[in-house]
Amino acid sequence: MDLGLTGKIAMVAAASKGIGFAVAGLLAQESCLVSICARNEETLEQATDAIGGDTRSYVVDVKNADDLAWWLEQTQADLGTPDILVTNTGGPPAGMLGDMTDEQWQEGVDSTLMNVVRLSRLVTPGMLASGWGRIVHITSLVARDPNPILPISSTLRAGLVALTRLQALEVAAGGITVNAVLPGHTRTDRQTHLAEVRAEREKISVEQALQNQADLLPLKRLAEPEEIAAAVAFLCGQPASYITGQSLLVDGGAAAGI
Ligand code: NAD
Repeated sequence: MDLGLTGKIAMVAAASKGIGFAVAGLLAQESCLVSICARNEETLEQATDAIGGDTRSYVVDVKNADDLAWWLEQTQADLGTPDILVTNTGGPPAGMLGDMTDEQWQEGVDSTLMNVVRLSRLVTPGMLASGWGRIVHITSLVARDPNPILPISSTLRAGLVALTRLQALEVAAGGITVNAVLPGHTRTDRQTHLAEVRAEREKISVEQALQNQADLLPLKRLAEPEEIAAAVAFLCGQPASYITGQSLLVDGGAAAGI
């Protein structure tokens, strides 16, 4: 299937590793000009080399509003006005609800929610001016299936389902689609970190925690980041032009409910 993305300019947030990196790589393969950001210059440079193409990278903390505005300015100057925005972040603090502090909740709001609000607000005028745009938020399975060790993520990601729908309605007539992809358990550093939390709580090894997680899934394995990226790239593409306001689970059937 031709996604019709040749020459499109794509900003992919938090993309030096994991799912964001896989998304940036796939969009570059689809001949997009890709702008990625993350906080660490060294890992960003490694990611930029690995992605190849005309990929540019910028040191940005997605929690910081000024950084986000600067990232858009730099991308516009170096590549042009973005046609595609993929929001992403490292995931908020994990732990049981009763142990979460106000500071952790605030960090979660800044990293998980406000970066989505701010980045979408920044790129929308340019997309409306060109009459075409794609916004995809990478959120989580926990938006639909709250997880006891991810109370902050579960709460904020459920809110992002509503935000995605509201944003989609606001810009639909301007040729922009807004959707969210909700990954399930995916083989990344984030997944290893969550396994470490479970391992400590359950007094087992991290490897055992990862295996236990896989055994619980209908597919009996974790997702690869590229399997999440494929859904994101499809939603960015021309063939997905009539899909908007949706929160798409890519979880191998993990979420309960219909
Ligand atoms: P990861 O830890 O592998 O990668 C996170 C990326 O974000 C890295 O490039 C990191 O440098 C960057 N990053 C982190 N904080 C940042 C910040 N403040 N500013 C800029 N860049 C920052 O994570 P991942 O597994 O790819 O997860 C990505 C998102 O998907 C997270 O929000 C996570 O909650 C969500 N998610 C992941 C899984 C999973 O199993 N991996 C499942 C559901 C949802």
